[in-house]
Amino acid sequence: MEIEVQLTGSPIAAKISPPRLAAHGAWLEFRGAVRDEEKGEKISGLEYEAYLEMAVREIRRILESLAVNHPCLAAKVIHRVGIIPAGEAAIYVGIASRHRAEAIALLGEFMNHLKQGVPIWKRRSIAVEVGRVTPCAPVEAHTAASGGQRTARPTLKSLDEAMAEINSRCHPLPAVRVPLVEAIGRLLRETVCAPEDLPPVDRSTRDGYAILKDDASDTFQIVDTLHAADWKPRQLKPGEAVRVATGSSLPCENLRVVMQENVERTDDKIRIVRRETATNISLRGEDLRAGEPLLHAGSKLNAGALAILATVGRVNPLVSPRLRVLHFTTGDEIVPPDQKPKPGQIRDSNSILIRGLLQNYPCDVTQKHLPEDFEAARRKISAFRLPLSAFDLLLVSGGASVGEKDFTRPLLEWLGFEIVFNQINLRPGRPLIFGVNGNQIAFGLPGNPLSHFVCFHFAVAAALARLTGSKSPAFLRGQLAEKLDDKPCPRETLWPARLEWNDAAPQLRPLAWASSGDITCLTAANALVRVPANTGPLEQFAEVDFLPLTAMLGG
Ligand code: AMP
Ligand code: MG
Repeated sequence: MEIEVQLTGSPIAAKISPPRLAAHGAWLEFRGAVRDEEKGEKISGLEYEAYLEMAVREIRRILESLAVNHPCLAAKVIHRVGIIPAGEAAIYVGIASRHRAEAIALLGEFMNHLKQGVPIWKRRSIAVEVGRVTPCAPVEAHTAASGGQRTARPTLKSLDEAMAEINSRCHPLPAVRVPLVEAIGRLLRETVCAPEDLPPVDRSTRDGYAILKDDASDTFQIVDTLHAADWKPRQLKPGEAVRVATGSSLPCENLRVVMQENVERTDDKIRIVRRETATNISLRGEDLRAGEPLLHAGSKLNAGALAILATVGRVNPLVSPRLRVLHFTTGDEIVPPDQKPKPGQIRDSNSILIRGLLQNYPCDVTQKHLPEDFEAARRKISAFRLPLSAFDLLLVSGGASVGEKDFTRPLLEWLGFEIVFNQINLRPGRPLIFGVNGNQIAFGLPGNPLSHFVCFHFAVAAALARLTGSKSPAFLRGQLAEKLDDKPCPRETLWPARLEWNDAAPQLRPLAWASSGDITCLTAANALVRVPANTGPLEQFAEVDFLPLTAMLGG
């Protein structure tokens, strides 16, 4: 079967001639027009985007496989991309066959497959209020014969724009109440106030004898003994002492505790041999008064914070949910790290890198490998039978660029994600894809481990911070401890560095790296120095912006 496929930004011609084939008895034409309504709303047009070369390839592949059962002579498919006003054709399909039956059957099946399998998608609907629909600049007509992988609309962002998009598109997931043992590392999502004074009563901080604060007697009669668990209020008189233990609740106010090392005891009497100024009492409310905030919403629940919650009996705090993360690796060259790579293969380091970086965030991580073919990858994803809608974050390693086999973008679209951007004017990490699908977030990360590392820290970490309800990573000001030897680069750079605090000022030691495939700097890097585009070398002591890497600092 002769096949011709075109993706075009121009209107589809009103008349298209059938191919000159002597044998054909049928020439079936179909035009799919944009309706003036989408999801019940009146619209004036639709914007279509496509992963051009891949779409052309997929259409061709579908037609070839359908022709096995429905032998036709020729097929011509034209799909329009960009803004298409309502009423105009978005797709044209013309099929030539010997008899009408094969053409009708092939057309019906082709249209079904087209919806499911081809990376052409509705980017947005154009509201009627917008008024006049101005067709966007036509994208170059693209046929199977022309080379080069392009998207209809690459969305290149600056680093600031990308970070702003992530911040505005990710929202805190609903908070949950969990027992203290499950709350470690989570973000507190409520402010917890002291329900009572802390400590709730005056308490002894020593093993010794409680006496009236101003009692100058020489000897004292021991009138009672209090262990840590005792609660026996009584008013002491001058010359009376009560034996107390560390932590004992004191029997009345206005006391001091004389350490047992400073008295001589004979039967039930004591004599003070050394007087000290300290009262050895922790006063009621001296740590915190009832009603004052103990922990603020947004605090990370470390061991100390959990101890505080336990102290005040807040045993089911309101916290960020445990995140569910799905991580796909891609690339036919990737083998598990316990295998010896054959020539051309490399070991998978991104899986453990991602798992390690996520260690700092309470989450459950599912990791799977995908074959390097869009169709096969989709079949495999279906076969995994994963609860795809249950994941909060989807990460795809590799395939984020625009190479022949890079399919992350259409894959994310197939999974229902709207692509917010697919490139950043950044080094390393230019082909970073960011997508959203309701509350679900997805990143397509460039496969090189250093790009992974950099993109994780400024992009994935920002999304994780927003999803859990904490503050996004922010750049700080610091000083270079050594020269940063760089050549001017038209892209902004996030340069791996070692952060040290000298005289309380952050000092940054730039680490050596030559390409995004370098991995040796990953072990020492705990900061990224921001080098503006076209800067060149930066001298020792230069002031720079840097991002501290909390996942590497253990914070
Ligand atoms: P890609 O983004 O798929 O073009 O991959 C860019 C580079 O990263 C290639 O050299 C890949 O072999 C490498 N790469 C991709 N995935 C991994 C992985 N899981 N572990 C280590 N390297 C990888
Ligand atoms: Mg790859």
